[in-house]
Amino acid sequence: MRCQMEALIGELNRLKREGVTHVTVSEEALQGLRKVVAARSTARPSDAPDASEPVGTVGLPDNHVRAEVASSTLAQIFSSAATGARPVPRAVKAETSGRAIAGPPVLTLPDGDKRTRWTALREQVLNCPECRAHLRPGKQVVFGVGNLDASVFFCGEAPGAEEEIQGEPFVGPAGEILTKIIRAMGLQRSDVYIGNIMNWRPEMPTEHGNRPPTPEEMAFCLPYLKAQIEIVNPEVVVALGGTAARGLIGEADFVSLAKARGRLHTFEDRPLIITYHPSYLLRSPSLRTKRMVWEDMLQVMEQVGLPISEKQRGFFL
Ligand code: URA
Repeated sequence: MRCQMEALIGELNRLKREGVTHVTVSEEALQGLRKVVAARSTARPSDAPDASEPVGTVGLPDNHVRAEVASSTLAQIFSSAATGARPVPRAVKAETSGRAIAGPPVLTLPDGDKRTRWTALREQVLNCPECRAHLRPGKQVVFGVGNLDASVFFCGEAPGAEEEIQGEPFVGPAGEILTKIIRAMGLQRSDVYIGNIMNWRPEMPTEHGNRPPTPEEMAFCLPYLKAQIEIVNPEVVVALGGTAARGLIGEADFVSLAKARGRLHTFEDRPLIITYHPSYLLRSPSLRTKRMVWEDMLQVMEQVGLPISEKQRGFFL
């Protein structure tokens, strides 16, 4: 139960960093949370919610069902939004404190054309001892895919369950959304390049759930991402979600996704556009959220000179 709670806390913290302020909680899930809170207050009275403690509110910004949860855990998660402090999910500490991440890798790429350099880089990443050391048995390191002459380079966070099985970024549910976004732009997946800030799925105590990578994990993988961007040489990089944005523009310059999106940034002297992660659209599929992401994509299309029809301009209005 503790592992599941930690996974839940990690996921809620990740959502919050992506700019999500409310989540939908089913009645069944609420029952489960109440049981956990009740069990915790019996076992450790000091952790019990104080009667005066504000009740955690879980809901969606667009007037979806709102549910109130009398939970110290949820209150604790959402309260750190007010301070702006970056919460570190407990699962992260538990999973990574025992093992130091190596210093950034040294890249040895041959001279040659894009394909030659990309193939050598891919080999190096797939055989990277640090990346492989974090894999669960039978799972794969995930390297970027796509068109080496792409104008648009999408950068996500880290492989999830499906990606570590298939060894390809964005092939799970979030990938389906990303594919729809790409098609709405009048492109195919094979027209763009898709990579991640991380090359392995961050370890969790259980098979289920994902957690955001730690700064150390991201710092380790960043040279691999930078090398892919350098080889592809896109006209614009699109950061999908708060973690990718933070990794690309740096901790110091990232306040929140809501503040970062809607304007042009740069990454290594290249235009960078920041938008919500496709998985946010899975959890919050409101017209408002879709429109926000779509406006970011219109900005991407303008940036690379893609034709935009009147119909496309009006999507999700
Ligand atoms: N989420 C990501 O950020 N990257 C993936 O590859 C899959 C899901």
